[in-house]
Amino acid sequence: MSYKRTVRCGFCYKTGHNIKGCPERKAYIKEHLGDNTPEGRRAAVLQEAYDSKSSRRERRCKYCRSTGHDIRTCPDIAQKVAVMTDKCLDARRYFADRMVEVGFGPGSLVRYRSERYWNNDIQDYEYKYSLGLVEKINWKEITHHCKRDTVRQYAALRTSVLVVPVNPSDTWKKGRMVHLPVEIGGYMEKEERGLELSKLLSGTSSDIPASFLDEKNIAKLMREKFLIDHGLTK
Ligand SMILES: [Zn+2]
Ligand SMILES: [Zn+2]
Repeated sequence: MSYKRTVRCGFCYKTGHNIKGCPERKAYIKEHLGDNTPEGRRAAVLQEAYDSKSSRRERRCKYCRSTGHDIRTCPDIAQKVAVMTDKCLDARRYFADRMVEVGFGPGSLVRYRSERYWNNDIQDYEYKYSLGLVEKINWKEITHHCKRDTVRQYAALRTSVLVVPVNPSDTWKKGRMVHLPVEIGGYMEKEERGLELSKLLSGTSSDIPASFLDEKNIAKLMREKFLIDHGLTK
């Protein structure tokens, strides 16, 4: 059996409406508001409690849950984004130096893992490597998370470089996204065998866009990524 709760008003105690929608409360306010009497003060309290505009309610930050600011002005977010920006700028300066040194850019020749297949005889995966040319670099995806070294593993490694095979019959894939070549991004020892390594075979002139090392641009990007990572975008 279902039971439907009846709304009862906390002001006039009649059913069918709540105190916010109570016509008697509204009439009471209209009659007494502004009077320097107990009724006048009660009217002011009633109005503040039930008729104040939503703008008068305190904002609550969706990230840190504090009141008085939103995610645009959250000091917590600003501080974290600043730390990320520093890390990213450092890593990008390092990458840019390496890129110039080894001559990495569109047209560079790389050896990359193009396919993976299961070998029943050895009961393990085997990999096929192809030669490819760098077609496009997705600069936005190159952050401090693309930096690897022999001991540390970094979260959320993103592929950022599109390579196309030199010999199209070499692989059924037209092209694929790979990580920064090991000469630039480094690698972990355990990756050496078979992971998504790409190696630079011959360089070209590198053409690094100015925005890649622009702190303001990086800060904007880090904020975007932070908001996405924390589900704060709408
Ligand atoms: Zn009522
Ligand atoms: Zn906040």
